[in-house]
Amino acid sequence: MTTTPTGAQVDGWFAQAADITVEGMRAGTGGPFGATLVDDGEVVVSVGNTVLRDTDPSGHAEMVAVREACRKRNTLDLSGMVMYATCEPCPMCVAVMMWAGITECYYASTRDDAAEHGFSDMHLRRYLDGSDTSTFDLVHLDEGREECAEIWAEFRRLNG
Ligand SMILES: [Zn+2]
Repeated sequence: MTTTPTGAQVDGWFAQAADITVEGMRAGTGGPFGATLVDDGEVVVSVGNTVLRDTDPSGHAEMVAVREACRKRNTLDLSGMVMYATCEPCPMCVAVMMWAGITECYYASTRDDAAEHGFSDMHLRRYLDGSDTSTFDLVHLDEGREECAEIWAEFRRLNG
């Protein structure tokens, strides 16, 4: 049974994420975003953004936290864990948390704070809510469908 964290615990998890983020910014590893992933009151990982260190546009803190926690626990299922993100997660990070079974994330700074500092994710949000789909062409093609269908056939064979 998960117990409700105390205010001091929550403050500590945000502070841990903030400290490692500031360290990372000073070292040039990543941008101003951090996250702490907690399992039943225990910190599993606390990480900063690693976009610059890894030359990886997906190196957002929540994404890095999910990757590291999955490796550390040797599982794809992080359900029951709670994410504490220094800033409101972008849609990619919400997605990876959901793929990993995480259903709770608390954040401090907002999308507007991020946007003020040059990190707007509004193009993603507008694309996903359908209000502006001009930024990305997602097109279904029937050509190649047979070739790709072989993947499903092989999957059935392997998992028959
Ligand atoms: Zn993100």
